[in-house]
Amino acid sequence: MLQVKNILFGYNKTSVLNDISFSLIPGENLAVIGESGSGKSTLLRLIYGEYDLPQGEIFWKEQQILGPKHNLVIGYDFMKYVTQEFDLMPFITVEENIGKYLSRFYPKEKQKRTDELIKVVELEAFAKTKVKNLSGGQKQRVALARALAKEPEILLLDEPFSHIDNFKKQSLRRSIFKYLKEKNIACIVATHDKNDVLGFADKMIVLDNKKVIAQDTPQNLYNNPKLPLIASFFEEFNVFDGVIYYARQLQIIEKSELKGIVKASYFNGYNWLIEVENNDTSIFIKHISKIKKGITICFKII
Ligand code: ADP
Ligand code: MG
Repeated sequence: MLQVKNILFGYNKTSVLNDISFSLIPGENLAVIGESGSGKSTLLRLIYGEYDLPQGEIFWKEQQILGPKHNLVIGYDFMKYVTQEFDLMPFITVEENIGKYLSRFYPKEKQKRTDELIKVVELEAFAKTKVKNLSGGQKQRVALARALAKEPEILLLDEPFSHIDNFKKQSLRRSIFKYLKEKNIACIVATHDKNDVLGFADKMIVLDNKKVIAQDTPQNLYNNPKLPLIASFFEEFNVFDGVIYYARQLQIIEKSELKGIVKASYFNGYNWLIEVENNDTSIFIKHISKIKKGITICFKII
């Protein structure tokens, strides 16, 4: 089990994380969410042992994770970390990059393992391509496969799909997270994309103002977002009398005390998001069709 206990950290005296605690069991998927600059990457670096902790401690099973003051080489064999920069070897091929840390004394096994991972990240067509000739998204997939090569017990992923185009993203997410579950690899995913979380994370923590402001399953946080920051991670929302309602929880009806003037309609795919001016503020309502600007509509909370 990973145990993060009351950790505190800052760069050059500016505090970034304060009193952070959570735990994770083998095979579990934890999402760390928060706005840009909230400390997601810093948290992953601390778990990896990149910095010394002024306060608090981190354990994986019996092993305490210690920083550079205590370790000549940063990192531990049981843990892999895919950073936002993913440093690969540009002048060798995709399969050579992935197999780089696998033993060359077992060439058959090495090839089999490499092929398996290339399949997980859906790069079969590029196995023999030099990494320098790949796109950003393809490089990110190579970095993911390389981190999995030696089957870590825990995997830290920093915005793992940020460079991958939408055509590939969803199937790649399914493929990677399914693989991690099958192999019982724990993972921590830092992200600001709800699609990396919904459907995959067992639990999530929300970072804001140096603290963990919420810690629960994605289902519970989605169904009962206690703070606007949490709701905003998932969907467009409104606040009425201090209560949060998603845009889909408002409905346009024929007659109601609640009224507003349509300012804009945005195509959302399955439905439209209608922006309505009500008491000088914008409210957002999901609707099946576009509505002309300037029209007064009535709505209710459902
Ligand atoms: P996130 O990943 O959530 O965007 P980061 O962990 O990268 O956030 O950054 C958290 C805060 O720490 C930010 O204010 C950032 O500017 C600062 N920070 C990040 N890395 C460094 C660093 N190496 N030196 C000094 N400050 C840093
Ligand atoms: Mg980051």
